[in-house]
Amino acid sequence: MMIEANYRNFAPLETPLLGFLSQSSGIATKARVVTEAAGENPVFHFGSRRMHPSIAPMIGRSAFIGGCDGVAVTKTAKELGLDPVGTIPHALILLLEDSTTATGMFEEIYGEEVNTVALVDTFGDEKFEALENADLIDGLNAVRLDTPSSRRGDMLEIAQEVRWELDLHGFTDVNIFISGGLDEESIPELNEVADAYGVGTAISSAPVVDFSLDIVEIEGEPVSKRGKKSGAKQLYLCEECNQRLVDSFGAGKKKCTGCGGRAEPFMKPLLKNGKLVKSYPSPEEIKTYSASQPFL
Ligand SMILES: [Zn+2]
Repeated sequence: MMIEANYRNFAPLETPLLGFLSQSSGIATKARVVTEAAGENPVFHFGSRRMHPSIAPMIGRSAFIGGCDGVAVTKTAKELGLDPVGTIPHALILLLEDSTTATGMFEEIYGEEVNTVALVDTFGDEKFEALENADLIDGLNAVRLDTPSSRRGDMLEIAQEVRWELDLHGFTDVNIFISGGLDEESIPELNEVADAYGVGTAISSAPVVDFSLDIVEIEGEPVSKRGKKSGAKQLYLCEECNQRLVDSFGAGKKKCTGCGGRAEPFMKPLLKNGKLVKSYPSPEEIKTYSASQPFL
């Protein structure tokens, strides 16, 4: 990003601007890492209890842009023009005293509108609760495994066993939804058996990207602090191989150091004299663009 302005007008915005960019970019980047690890399986952002409520929509939006297929926070989903995604909570099962009663009541009330996902680890064994729920609900969409770490052992083996039993009893269409402390390290081995994931903490608490802003030119003269290259820069992008190069702002077209193709200036004006000169893309458009970029 390049900003050309009277510094006194811009100075009060420098710190908040970096805050916006650094945290949301960190979350979007982590969402990309996690969704890449999940392959074709959708990942839903379930991290609302790991973040301050006042910034929940920013976190959910960043998670969505980075690759998550949906978000659980209703306010965030509304801002993004999506339907919120979630499953039956443990609380409903505890209040109704068993998993099948909760799933049955949910199906009766909401079954027409949404896919019913049974939560199968509250009181009983995952395998037996999965079978009881699949038996009860015709066309059950999924069972969700959210086994606490104290009882977990091997999550992959639990999921494989549940899959085996469901298939053996003819419930091949019932999907397996896994959640509970997942990240890019734990997801890949689960892909063979999981159909969807709920990921919270890993994405909500993603490390920030260390962006900084520096003065590099004053009245057209290159000047900068120690350790920073002076002069305005442009980002050049090779449309052939996506290689990125940084060079001085007026360098024009560049030869790509990757494939020898032509790299074009990539930064485009957004704001001129306080007026937007380009419309903002929607979160969906940013998500699509982001997904088309190479995964580094
Ligand atoms: Zn190239």
